[in-house]
Amino acid sequence: MEKKLIIKKERCPQNHKCPAVNICPVGALSQEGMSAPTIDYNKCIRCGKCSNFCPMKALVLEE
Ligand code: SF4
Repeated sequence: MEKKLIIKKERCPQNHKCPAVNICPVGALSQEGMSAPTIDYNKCIRCGKCSNFCPMKALVLEE
């Protein structure tokens, strides 16, 4: 089955600018204010860069 990126909001402290937004090579992550980032599934290529980067493991590539 194809992997899917999900966000586990309960792991995200939602009190800072998400550094993973700028890591994404295709601009699939966006953030409003200090909220948890949102994923544009039309852009995401499931590369895993953001999930490897997020120190809180809030972005997860699931099977
Ligand atoms: S898995 Fe890759 S393409 Fe998808 S949001 Fe994360 S960094 Fe961007």
